[in-house]
Amino acid sequence: MTEGDAASLFDPAAFVREVETAARAGEWEIRYLSPCPSSTRPWLQRAAATAKAPSLYLSAGIHGDEISGPGAILELLRRPHFFADFHTTLFPILNPEGLLRNLRGNIDGIDLNRDYRNSKSLEILSHIEALQTLGRFDGAMFLHEDFEGIGAYLYELNDSSTPDLGQAIITAMGRHVPIDQRPEIEGVTAHNGVIDRRDIIKIYGSIEDRPDWPEAIYLTKYHTHICYTTETPKPFPLEHRTQAQIAAVETLMQALKSI
Ligand SMILES: [Zn+2]
Repeated sequence: MTEGDAASLFDPAAFVREVETAARAGEWEIRYLSPCPSSTRPWLQRAAATAKAPSLYLSAGIHGDEISGPGAILELLRRPHFFADFHTTLFPILNPEGLLRNLRGNIDGIDLNRDYRNSKSLEILSHIEALQTLGRFDGAMFLHEDFEGIGAYLYELNDSSTPDLGQAIITAMGRHVPIDQRPEIEGVTAHNGVIDRRDIIKIYGSIEDRPDWPEAIYLTKYHTHICYTTETPKPFPLEHRTQAQIAAVETLMQALKSI
């Protein structure tokens, strides 16, 4: 879509105000990454009532032309008890300048989700600085969209500890949007919309050796063993894509309760 397309208008400052309102109502701790010209970048934490609850990490809005993820996190923040049983860390808007302009990269054209190794952007330097203050998570999910997607798919960077979880997540997403059934997605073998670590390694070699780390590789290396990147298909209605993201998050959380 082109810049300014009415169907894709996203107001980062208004979004941030809504996130802050919901976070204050839910008594979340609000901190801020380095600000961008068009809005601040809040991130949120809240502890569960019990210390041994699972810990969850979610992030969205790193690619500015992908808006179902930020919308999903805002909707979940507004549900009072949704995260009650989790130690939760949320980064709902990593790239406000991209979101304002409906552009994948930041204002300098840097793809922020390739900037987690030898980082150049202020956005990701600040994100990594925050991450370095945080410990381990039981699971992480990064909410993305594919602008020419024909259905939902996901990247699974786990080892074999949760062999069926990727399929459970994609099945849940499939209740809201079609599942991308192609045998190969983005050049990698896929199984019913799930692209797993072994198949990525077959094409790209060792994940950690890549020079252009996405957020998922950084998190896998330093913070978690359970890591999913969801992709909703942008040609479908926003409400359906948002609900597909929510279903993915819910399914991950359900699994983390029993791991
Ligand atoms: Zn993306």
